[in-house]
Amino acid sequence: MSKLQRITINRSQLQETQLLLTPQQQHYLLRVLRSRDGDKFIAMDGMGNCWLAKLIGEQGQILKPLEVTTELPISITLMVALPKGNGFDDVIRCCTELGVTCILPTLSDHTLLNPSPQKVERWRRIALEAAEQSERAFIPMILEPVAFSTAINEYACIHRYICEARGNYPHLTTVCNKLSGEIIIAIGPEGGWTDQELEIAIKSGFQPISLGRRILRAVTAPIVALSLIAAACEV
Ligand code: SAH
Repeated sequence: MSKLQRITINRSQLQETQLLLTPQQQHYLLRVLRSRDGDKFIAMDGMGNCWLAKLIGEQGQILKPLEVTTELPISITLMVALPKGNGFDDVIRCCTELGVTCILPTLSDHTLLNPSPQKVERWRRIALEAAEQSERAFIPMILEPVAFSTAINEYACIHRYICEARGNYPHLTTVCNKLSGEIIIAIGPEGGWTDQELEIAIKSGFQPISLGRRILRAVTAPIVALSLIAAACEV
């Protein structure tokens, strides 16, 4: 199917085959894109469901559900220590494109900033736009930032990894073919993890892993990790 515009909807906008568009969506379709009666678009609920729809007047009509082929077969939670400046915007944008399921921003010992609630809203908007752009059916969850010690104990899934730039740890690719179900991967801030943080993570069942012999920036490391996992899952 050729590229159709994607609109993220709330399930409450669906009434049987009627799709009640919001004023913003009407403005976007009718004024910005100059869509006409009968023009098709894709409606997605951000939770894995997509439909082919067409415009009728100022509303949408659902034509049929669409098969989702753009999601990874595993669920990946990225636990990322907040980098400085606007670096986190790029992490969210790129990791959404690469198929991340959930991003948990964490405040580690070397994290300087404590983000405002507006930041979290902004990150969620970036995730939504990146999901639409990359034709995903699922919009990654962006959780509220939490302290490292809380984050590390919050998840009990089997596959837990912490990326450490120094030390002789196995490369992520050596564990990639064993991955299934849910995985969590933790990435540190610019200053790296403290010895204590690494120790706590290991005690909590996180396996330290390497992303290669070079020291990657805090913004590059999650993108590399996601790319390696996605590549291993999709071949
Ligand atoms: N300043 C630190 C490096 C921090 S890099 C130092 O000099 O040691 C930021 C984060 O990216 C790290 O905490 C780690 O989680 C991840 N990272 C960067 N390069 C990596 C690599 N080669 N292998 C594994 N993790 C890496």
